[in-house]
Amino acid sequence: MLWGLVRQGLKCEACGLDFHKRCVLKLSKDCNRERRRCGSSLSLFQPRRPRTSSLSTQAGGSLEEISMSKPESRTRPISWVERPLWLGRGQAEQGRVPVPHTFHIHTYTKTTTCQLCHRMLKGLFRQGLQCSDCKFNCHRQCEPQVPSDCPGERRTTNGEGETLKGGGPCFGSNIPLMRVVQSVRHVKRRDSGVLREGWLLHYTSTDTMRKRHYWILDTKNITLYQNENSTKYYKELPLSEVLQVQGEGHLSVPPSSCDSGHSFELVTGTVVYCVLAGKASPAWEAVIRQALMPVHKSGHRGQDCMGECKTVNNNVCLSFQDISAYYQIFTDDMLGSGQFGIVYGGAHRQSGRTVAVKVIDKTRFPTNQESQLRNEVAILQNLAHPGVVHLEGMFETSEHVFVVMEKLHGDMLEMIMSNENGRLPERNTRFLVTQILEALRYLHFKHIAHCDLKPENVLLACADPFPQVKLCDFGFSRIIGEKSFRRSVVGTPAYLAPEVISSLGYNRSLDMWAVGVVLYVSLSGTFPFNEYEDIGQQITNASFMFPRQPWANISLEAVSLITNLLQVSVKRRFTVGKALGHSWLQDFQLWCDLREFERRMGLRYLTHQDDGVRWQKHAQEKGLDFPSQLA
Ligand code: ADP
Ligand code: MG
Repeated sequence: MLWGLVRQGLKCEACGLDFHKRCVLKLSKDCNRERRRCGSSLSLFQPRRPRTSSLSTQAGGSLEEISMSKPESRTRPISWVERPLWLGRGQAEQGRVPVPHTFHIHTYTKTTTCQLCHRMLKGLFRQGLQCSDCKFNCHRQCEPQVPSDCPGERRTTNGEGETLKGGGPCFGSNIPLMRVVQSVRHVKRRDSGVLREGWLLHYTSTDTMRKRHYWILDTKNITLYQNENSTKYYKELPLSEVLQVQGEGHLSVPPSSCDSGHSFELVTGTVVYCVLAGKASPAWEAVIRQALMPVHKSGHRGQDCMGECKTVNNNVCLSFQDISAYYQIFTDDMLGSGQFGIVYGGAHRQSGRTVAVKVIDKTRFPTNQESQLRNEVAILQNLAHPGVVHLEGMFETSEHVFVVMEKLHGDMLEMIMSNENGRLPERNTRFLVTQILEALRYLHFKHIAHCDLKPENVLLACADPFPQVKLCDFGFSRIIGEKSFRRSVVGTPAYLAPEVISSLGYNRSLDMWAVGVVLYVSLSGTFPFNEYEDIGQQITNASFMFPRQPWANISLEAVSLITNLLQVSVKRRFTVGKALGHSWLQDFQLWCDLREFERRMGLRYLTHQDDGVRWQKHAQEKGLDFPSQLA
């Protein structure tokens, strides 16, 4: 697993493989061999061509930093200047993949010079950039000139480069709250309706580097796989996005300097794919044209194509017919999406009752994980609690799983982020967290660990500042007995407990760690991690900071509860009972808010009968108003 929120690893642009940085450093083979393994060959690349967007290896592969949580908006790749790679280094290193430095803004406490221009790093703090691996120091403006030759191990450079003791980067460096999902594996299952397949070369109007992939055309997409057998793919081009196929005589992109010209072009709204298919070009061009308009074409290939289309369309139709006999799915009413699926609004046909339907595309997951997709339903169907989303039904076809649930208004992340300050007041957070804890009390009593607790999975029933809360997304949930432990990695990186990261085995107390993170993000609007240090290490050391802004304005009791939840030692970490008994949640205002809510709902599940007497006494002692209707 590539851990972290941002900059988790390196991706080779040529073969598409992902690596930890430390693993790249150990790669004895270069991308040439990697690509041979995945079907490419060395001759297809133009090594040493200066690029600003990625790092090209001498052998022709290229590595760029990747961010798994947001693959589409990659972090700015480290730039480079062309120069002979591994110049002056030993023979052994010459075949190695050049590895970019991982630079972070750094505050130096000693006089330090830039290792590129050898001038001083000036200023009081944040004077320059330091590589978190090898501790290479440089000016921000020198960064583009630094060659990608990170040796990986720490080395003392100039005898300088001290970090601020105990503090690391100071206030304001915490990562802002955002929607994070566990990275979805970029794989897909091969469709049966293959119209044509084979090795092809292509480049695009925006990137003239030629790439070789195993192309598979089916009735919906053109998919560029790494090789004949791999499920990993480099790119998927939906046929619906292809505006035109342009053949010889109508080409719009001039041939690139190094090739004799491409045979045909696939024009999309944003980019033109220039395809070099050699002798197979006419056949490829024809079959793609037919796939774009299968119904209107005749002839032998056209017939084949229509057959395939029919099957696929029938399948899809059937799958929607099954569920559509009972429910109408409103595809324009998307309620949210996560690592498993997209949730749409819907309606029960007979009663008109509104529902939420989670549509899971099975083809996005490897076959051996298919049973995992039904895990959510298997767990949910045994649960009935006002704090857990109600499951109405499940439908399944060869391509999709549909999970029908009661429809709620939104999720807690939305509420936090849409708040004026980007965080919630203590009073509202108390109200929400109490409900989360009550739902967890119920789950843990049934030996179920949610395993992916985060604000995105905490649903809110309405737009009210004191809404009903229901947990959803039981895709990672596990039944864990009183004394047993699980090891499989579950959850979302930012909310993972240290024992999950260290693969030590976990039980339901991993949910309590997540409550600590949820509490932290709700009150502060940031994750408890700073972006300068390894997040995995920050979690396993529980080295979290409470910067003055905004924590100076948050009660010490809140900090105390968070600290008791973010305990590395599972034995010391608070259980649900202990958390609910903590002084921050033993609050008169909270009790009033909860009672008022229960009164509105006509349902008592958050407060206890006996508490009324206690709080009445408390109000009398403190001279506070006690609303008699809440007793
Ligand atoms: P995933 O397993 O893909 O993360 P979730 O079940 O968490 O899917 O749903 C994704 C998002 O859809 C949630 O974060 C939430 O915003 C929204 N959502 C899920 N279920 C409902 C529901 N029952 N009502 C309203 N919105 C929902
Ligand atoms: Mg989710």
